[in-house]
Amino acid sequence: MPIFEFRCRKCRACFEVLFRSRDEKLAVDCPQCGSKKVERQMSAFSGKIGNTSDGGAGCGSCAATSCSPS
Ligand SMILES: [Zn+2]
Repeated sequence: MPIFEFRCRKCRACFEVLFRSRDEKLAVDCPQCGSKKVERQMSAFSGKIGNTSDGGAGCGSCAATSCSPS
């Protein structure tokens, strides 16, 4: 099952969402602040694969280990 990484545009939290199938479309909202303004990060583990929006560095600030701020 694919895991996609998202980042909240509001509070900048990074989180991962597990999709049951590649085509599944979920209403993803931020687990921290509940905002729906989240953007999908294209595979944190394989680097940037196009489609990077103007968000800039993406999850770079927390790419070291886990993306979940406590
Ligand atoms: Zn948030």
